[in-house]
Amino acid sequence: MRAWEANIRKVVPYVPGDQPKGDRLIKLNTNENPYPPAPGVQDALKRMDYDRFRKYPDPAVTDLVHSLAEYYHVGDEQVFVGVGSDDVIAMAFMTFFNSQKPVLFPNVSYSFYKVWADLFRIPYETPELDADFRINPKDYYRENGGVIFPNPNAPTGLFLPLEQVEDIIRHNQDVVVVVDEAYIDFGGTSALELVKKYENLLVVQTFSKARSMAGMRIGYAIGHPDLIRALNDVKYSYNSYTMNMPSIVLGVEAVKDDAYFRETLKKIIATRERSKLRLRKLGFSFPDSMSNFIFATHERVPAEKIFEALRANQIYVRYFRQPGLDNYLRISIGTDEEMDELFAFLEKYLRSV
Ligand code: PMP
Repeated sequence: MRAWEANIRKVVPYVPGDQPKGDRLIKLNTNENPYPPAPGVQDALKRMDYDRFRKYPDPAVTDLVHSLAEYYHVGDEQVFVGVGSDDVIAMAFMTFFNSQKPVLFPNVSYSFYKVWADLFRIPYETPELDADFRINPKDYYRENGGVIFPNPNAPTGLFLPLEQVEDIIRHNQDVVVVVDEAYIDFGGTSALELVKKYENLLVVQTFSKARSMAGMRIGYAIGHPDLIRALNDVKYSYNSYTMNMPSIVLGVEAVKDDAYFRETLKKIIATRERSKLRLRKLGFSFPDSMSNFIFATHERVPAEKIFEALRANQIYVRYFRQPGLDNYLRISIGTDEEMDELFAFLEKYLRSV
């Protein structure tokens, strides 16, 4: 071994879903929105003055912070914006999870949490979900250095009712509790209303799913001004210009069009509910998803086999080669047409094996 290798930070990175290329494929593997962003986003993009690219963007992301604050009826000083919620959550780990005590998150949840904890050398424990993949709030009553969980949970899609979210926060008022609401707009109730009541609550959301802008990389956190100030202090100690100018401008446009946002959500939720019926008929079972994906297992055919068959036919879903999850497929909700192609293939395939 070369001497300098001893000083390399050794990490096992998070592995995002594939981004396969091609026109004919059906991509249901990374929980993207199948519909385009609001029309105003495209108009703003056409009007964008590229000469502005010479200059640094606004480090405080003032305009986007302000539109989000207005939209959610909070003060500007309660909003933090980052490059996707991944950036926001990574900042939250760095800022709030500095105890010797372990941070708690469910053993089945967003697999990036473990990666950040390892990267930043934060101790953690992962309480188990129950046999039906549910979070038990009592598992979070023990001493800890912070709590984070997705709601709805990923990759299960299950929503934890707000009373239970509050129960977890109420039992953890000495640490920061982060509720990762990447999928909240697809039918859950946000913990945002609890921000007034609990100074230690940070709610994180994203433009990547419900607002169809995964490629723009916009995420945000809402919480007490002291939490937001602390996040900004860490951000400015790391990289002042995290968010690029087009993302700021287009993010503001996306927030303006609430009617389009609601309509898109309605379509995806309707397709999801229809997909649940079809999948059940095909012999699948799954936790009752409140997100834009369904985490399904088949009564007879192993998930990995179905995954391979789908992929060979240019239909991409997500498969986790992990104990406890390896007989499930996570299927993102696409358009009605895409889902119909998936079901048509599954019907034929499942009959043949
Ligand atoms: N949280 C959860 C639970 C997710 O599934 C994802 C998507 N991979 C993210 C956060 C991050 O999304 P983004 O960085 O695109 O906002």
